[in-house]
Amino acid sequence: MTAPNSTRAALISLMLAIPTLGIAQEIIDTDTHRLEEVAEGIYFATGNGALYTMSNALIIERDDDVVIIDSHITPAAGRALLDSIRVVTDKPVTTLINSHFHYDHANGVPAFGPDIEIIGHEVTYQKLTGDPANEQTYLSSLNRFDNTVANLQQRIADASGAERAELQTQLEFWQAHVRAQDEIVFTPPTTTLKDTMTLYRGGREIQLHYFGRAHTGGDLAIYLPQERIVFTGDMMLGGISYMGDGYVAEWADTLQGLKQLSFDLVLPGHGPGFRDLDRIDNVQAYYGDLTEEVRRLKALGYNAEEAAARADLRQHADTLGVDQLGANLEAVQRMYDIMDGNID
Ligand SMILES: [Zn+2]
Repeated sequence: MTAPNSTRAALISLMLAIPTLGIAQEIIDTDTHRLEEVAEGIYFATGNGALYTMSNALIIERDDDVVIIDSHITPAAGRALLDSIRVVTDKPVTTLINSHFHYDHANGVPAFGPDIEIIGHEVTYQKLTGDPANEQTYLSSLNRFDNTVANLQQRIADASGAERAELQTQLEFWQAHVRAQDEIVFTPPTTTLKDTMTLYRGGREIQLHYFGRAHTGGDLAIYLPQERIVFTGDMMLGGISYMGDGYVAEWADTLQGLKQLSFDLVLPGHGPGFRDLDRIDNVQAYYGDLTEEVRRLKALGYNAEEAAARADLRQHADTLGVDQLGANLEAVQRMYDIMDGNID
């Protein structure tokens, strides 16, 4: 689309004057992704359901190359991401930042070839060079996908007509994902950091920050100060994150660090981006209250299972939808293990 220069200038000044309602300036739909251009040359990539991607990614175009954050759940999903990048730019993808070690963010890495620089926290390196194939969170995901396939096969056996066809489509989607897992090669970072690192190349400033333990022992917040955007991986989603590898008692403090940055837009590892920064306060309050509640119940002699059933966090109903008694058992069990000194 072209417009006379004066019209175009008027349009641009109009766009600048109006606060953005959604998060994107422009949306590009590829075969496998929705790319939301959240600032010039910066695209928030979410899967469109053509194949299983599970997590979000960020594409950052620089003068001569491209940096990406996270790579999805399998090499096949990573290749789909690369194909989608090719829709918006021909520049080489030289650098990949891992927000954290989890399978659904890091297992697409091999799609980007052997020469790419992979930057991650030291803990991400330790996890991916340790025994990643036997990490509990990864193993339980394999189980979950196998169960999903078995469940669909069962339902197809009992279904007919349009419902059966719909279930068959779902089955093929999940079977394709399970097959894609055969290609996984755990690939650790080639460059690590402990606290902070800044990339200045190609007309961009990209800051990497570690503020403490939260969703894992090595979560990075990737901050673009000029654009006032932060990619938070899973340390900050729109609501409560998965806590099975988390440090719930430390999480609120870590998010306090995040809040020291100046940003207007949060791009999380799952779910849509958001500008409502109160969400950070809300989950901080939840993690703090969950910590206190679990300590209280443990002191009363309840085991983890009992504590998970009894934990009362319904004061978070309005902000986080916690309207039932109880807390996630995996999270509570892990909190017990940490309090008992079974986990560092
Ligand atoms: Zn995660």
